[in-house]
Amino acid sequence: MKLGFIGLGNMGAPMARNLLKAGHDLVVFDVVQSNVDALVKHGQGHATAAATPAAVLAGGVEGVITMLPASQHVKSVYLGNDGLLSGNVKGVVLIDSSTIDPMSAREVAKAAADKGALMLDAPVSGGTGGAEAGTLTFMVGGEESLFNQMKPLLQAMGKNIVYCGGAGNGQVAKVANNMLLGISMIGTAEAMALGVSLGMDPKVLAGIINTSSGRCWSSDTYNPYPGVLENVPSSRGYTGGFGSDLMLKDLGLATEAAKLSKQPVPLGSLAQQIYQTFSMQGHGGLDFSAIIKMFTKK
Ligand code: NAD
Repeated sequence: MKLGFIGLGNMGAPMARNLLKAGHDLVVFDVVQSNVDALVKHGQGHATAAATPAAVLAGGVEGVITMLPASQHVKSVYLGNDGLLSGNVKGVVLIDSSTIDPMSAREVAKAAADKGALMLDAPVSGGTGGAEAGTLTFMVGGEESLFNQMKPLLQAMGKNIVYCGGAGNGQVAKVANNMLLGISMIGTAEAMALGVSLGMDPKVLAGIINTSSGRCWSSDTYNPYPGVLENVPSSRGYTGGFGSDLMLKDLGLATEAAKLSKQPVPLGSLAQQIYQTFSMQGHGGLDFSAIIKMFTKK
């Protein structure tokens, strides 16, 4: 297919490279010129640069994928002057893979439908490693027939492609999962810090939790206590991985969506406040498992 790709950052660039590898032609745009140059000059496949989001459409693309930081960037790329929806999008498939709040996703999907475009929200999990390896999980909202039609395209970038329901539901799945992840990481950190401060060896404690009812992904795959697991951020100074500020962003999306729908999320709100405090203390760039520093003396 001939496709547009907008947003060539940590996630977007490797996703776009995987589309090129699968034989698609790309027309790309990013506000950072060096990101565009890196992709266009990347030998494999055929990628050309466009000067604006609307200009991405000019070459007659069948679909456009966007991978942008947050809601305001998505709204600007779709709804702004020179935005995608200012161009001729009739019949074009628009896929937004950014993580944004479900309400904004629905607003943009409605505006796209009003212009005759077809739209899916398709946020991902799996991080930059998954983007590089083409093993991302896509959580997809929109028309089911369009999902089925686009599934092979998403399979060039991901392994698990899951239909979640109508417009915005991909984002709903993503924020619900990440809210639980934030809560479970804080809970694991709190329990590990308590046990160690009371005299337990961290590896023995983690072993017990991981074969008992306290077990969860944060404890058995991504333990926040240094030295319990190898090859996780806690064992390399909390570098790499999923930044605390990104977790804070996702908790903000969950609590904002909860507020708008009058749905109580007391633990989600508390988790957001804890990550906010952590970020204010200057730790926003550390992996989100570093939250254990809130409960330890080191
Ligand atoms: P990033 O900041 O590395 O990349 C975003 C890109 O968008 C940048 O290249 C930036 O220049 C570009 N951009 C910003 N505004 C633009 C505009 N108006 N027009 C065109 N380009 C614009 O972010 P990322 O890590 O690639 O994340 C992208 C999205 O994926 C976010 O919503 C994030 O929450 C989500 N996500 C990230 C990860 C991760 O591990 N990094 C994992 C899952 C989901």
